[in-house]
Amino acid sequence: MPILVQKFGGTSVANAEKIKSAASKALAEVAKGYQVVVVVSARGKKTDELISLAQEISSTPAAREMDVLLAVGEQESIALTAIAIQELGGKSVSLTGPQMGMQTDSSHQRARVKKINTKRLHELLDQGNVIVAAGFQGEDEFGDITTLGRGGSDTTAAALAAVLHAERCDIYTDVEGVFTTDPRLTKEARKVEYISYDEMLELASLGAGVMHSRSIEFAKKYRVPLRVRPSFSDSEGTLIADVPADDPSVVTGIALVKNEVRVSCKDIPDRPGVSSTIFTNMAKRKIAVDLVVQDVSKDGLAEVSFTVPQDDLAEALNAANEALVQLGAGYVTQGTNVSKISIVGNGMQTHTGVAAQFFQTLAKEGINIEMISTSEIKISALINRDQAQQAVQVVHQSFGLSESQRSLPKVGWKQMEEARQKSEQLVRMQKELEVINRLAGMEDIVVSEIEVDTTQARVTVQNIQDRVGICSELFSAVAEGGVMVDMIVQNISGKSASNLSFTIPHKDLEQTLLLVREVILNWGSGELSYNQHIAKISVVGIGVRSHTGVGDKMFKALAEQQINIDMISTSEMCMSVVVDVAAAGKAEATLKQTFGITG
Ligand code: ASP
Ligand code: MG
Repeated sequence: MPILVQKFGGTSVANAEKIKSAASKALAEVAKGYQVVVVVSARGKKTDELISLAQEISSTPAAREMDVLLAVGEQESIALTAIAIQELGGKSVSLTGPQMGMQTDSSHQRARVKKINTKRLHELLDQGNVIVAAGFQGEDEFGDITTLGRGGSDTTAAALAAVLHAERCDIYTDVEGVFTTDPRLTKEARKVEYISYDEMLELASLGAGVMHSRSIEFAKKYRVPLRVRPSFSDSEGTLIADVPADDPSVVTGIALVKNEVRVSCKDIPDRPGVSSTIFTNMAKRKIAVDLVVQDVSKDGLAEVSFTVPQDDLAEALNAANEALVQLGAGYVTQGTNVSKISIVGNGMQTHTGVAAQFFQTLAKEGINIEMISTSEIKISALINRDQAQQAVQVVHQSFGLSESQRSLPKVGWKQMEEARQKSEQLVRMQKELEVINRLAGMEDIVVSEIEVDTTQARVTVQNIQDRVGICSELFSAVAEGGVMVDMIVQNISGKSASNLSFTIPHKDLEQTLLLVREVILNWGSGELSYNQHIAKISVVGIGVRSHTGVGDKMFKALAEQQINIDMISTSEMCMSVVVDVAAAGKAEATLKQTFGITG
């Protein structure tokens, strides 16, 4: 019998009425012939209440005891839900994390899943039970209770779906599904029917707070289709799965992280090991760096900027200052009134002019850009916080997100699966699977590939006046030439000047230089340079950003080989650097070794 996992969040089990409604949703699927596992969160604000209670007693409660405490919330929900199913005439058994065999590491309050024993689960299902499993909790090797971090029930659900080879994992929540952007930011936001794992990962981490990123990483790793759907209606919600390669949409969603801050390390020496020093200090403090940009140096001095959530500012500043002391040069600046707006879409990889349109739209509204970072499927820009909402509105409009609909293909799931098997993504997927099969813990980081791209050239413009419209003018010109821009990095530098670098195919270099030169002439400022002899090296995988150590490891490995880094950009799936082409082979070899990739 096919297995279905259903997860009900806190609001969906908040009271007796809602618990009964969740129970009937489970039984409805049983009636359709599924074996059903229900995963529940703590009721309503229960977890928050428990946390404040502990805080009334101590400002530094031990993490181990917090886990014992917080697990109570989910334990209450599973019992009540099982009782509700039984009351409706169904057969049901509730299981806590330890009872279901959810094994995690011992990092209390942010434990990662290692393994799940499925034997008992299958037995109970085969006996006709609906299993009601506690989200968010597990046990470590000592039998101590652990929790997976706030919002962790999604991860429990995706993990169970993975090990049970469920046909699907339904995440019931109090919203209609995944939206093109946060509906509180614009009335035009609309529900997306269908979104890819990668897009969802980018959007989730970019602040579209529907789901726990780790649950999507899980689903992607084990190819579990997820459906985010409302518990208050029968609507189908949003399907998160692989999107066919020929999908026509360019931009799928817009995310805003309102309270982001920027930390810049300026006038630091441009030599191997610099980024490594900075990242080691960040990783030591377990700060997950968000955007990272490094731009080409000037007069032998480089600049690395990164953003972190506002709450991490003090720690990040300490880490940066400590790094500079170790480097013996440079100074730190910060930008606090900033927000990060990002556009995300699979189709960006194959369409020119997306960046240009994004920057034009912001420029028209008089919105200045402080920092830019891109990945294959996303462009992020750091802008003034006071203009953030307005920015989302105009960009949403500009890309027609309120009208266009990426609808589910008319073909069934099976055919989609077949189409997917044929797609080019498969090669990458298979590599991922090979790595996944070797993992010690299910949630370990998966670096599946080191990609080396030597087909591109870098173009850099330095000393640009820092004013509205710069990027718009530049990338519009480049887009008019039909040039496909890949990596873009912009960094503000002191004295209200900024630097901008981007990469393009070799064959387009000459034309691009002509186009850019013309723009600079109009500006009356800016110095143009380029380098044909570069390699873009990317560490690709799942969980690249959410595991704080990847950047650290990557930069350390490159530093040990005395490889200097020209540009850096990061995303959920990928950390990319630009280095001299002469160092490409060495970089590839050392990174393969570092991340245990063979072949
Ligand atoms: N109850 C936990 C929390 O509130 C886990 C969850 O809801 O997913 O964070
Ligand atoms: Mg919750």
